[in-house]
Amino acid sequence: MRLHELNRITNSFQARAKKMPIIFVGHGHPINALMDTDFSRSLTKMGQTIEKPAAILVISAHWETVGTYVSVNAVPRTIHDFGRFDDRLYEMTYPASGHPELAKELKGLVSLTDIMEDGGMGLDHGAWTVLNFIRPAADVPVFEMSIDFTKGPDFHYQLGQQLKLLRKKGVLIICSGNIVHNLRLSDWHHIDAVTHDWNLEFDQLVKENIDQHAFDRLVNYQQLGNAAKLAIPTNDHYLPMIYSLGIIDKDDNIKHIYEGYQYAGISMRCFQAG
Ligand code: ZN
Repeated sequence: MRLHELNRITNSFQARAKKMPIIFVGHGHPINALMDTDFSRSLTKMGQTIEKPAAILVISAHWETVGTYVSVNAVPRTIHDFGRFDDRLYEMTYPASGHPELAKELKGLVSLTDIMEDGGMGLDHGAWTVLNFIRPAADVPVFEMSIDFTKGPDFHYQLGQQLKLLRKKGVLIICSGNIVHNLRLSDWHHIDAVTHDWNLEFDQLVKENIDQHAFDRLVNYQQLGNAAKLAIPTNDHYLPMIYSLGIIDKDDNIKHIYEGYQYAGISMRCFQAG
């Protein structure tokens, strides 16, 4: 992209004095949306410390596509994209509006790929179950960007880097997945089941590398041994974290908002940068 094009795009956003934080949330099982726990209270507390954004961009594990899409839906519905295990979850809604204008401007920031528009996407549970704690008033417009599952981790890291500018324009970016997410080796009857060793080991390894800004190692997670293989049997929930690493700036202070494990095979770690 030429510099004058970048300046044009930059100028089209409303300037803000302060850069918004970037958040990674481990969302886990949808049932967390109904529970008052250390996890939910950590998200609520964090939300209260963040100034009201102009909009929220969510990159969720639960919107996977071929090619990358951004939602330009002005009225995104709440999607209950999970099995019918608790009727109360189906009654929950997150009635935020969308932000088609900002979604369209996001497309202009990205030179890595052509971002396509989706007019029908709502808010998947990776978005609304955590927004419900972080911004319970639902008074900020929310739009989502999808994850192209045909692309490798390096692509997602680079695409994250191209989204940094949004932070300076008042957009809070929330990446929602799970660092460790092995459904097959989870104990779905016990949320507090004893955490697998490899879950703990890999989650802590990720924490150390995040703290050292050693992001390359985490992008190349396939070289991180056996714990990584067990922690990431498929990378759908790990990729949102890769986006967050791309969006983090070198001078950002990184805080671990929540550290915990559920069902033996899920890490619920959440962190905030900036
Ligand atoms: Zn999920």
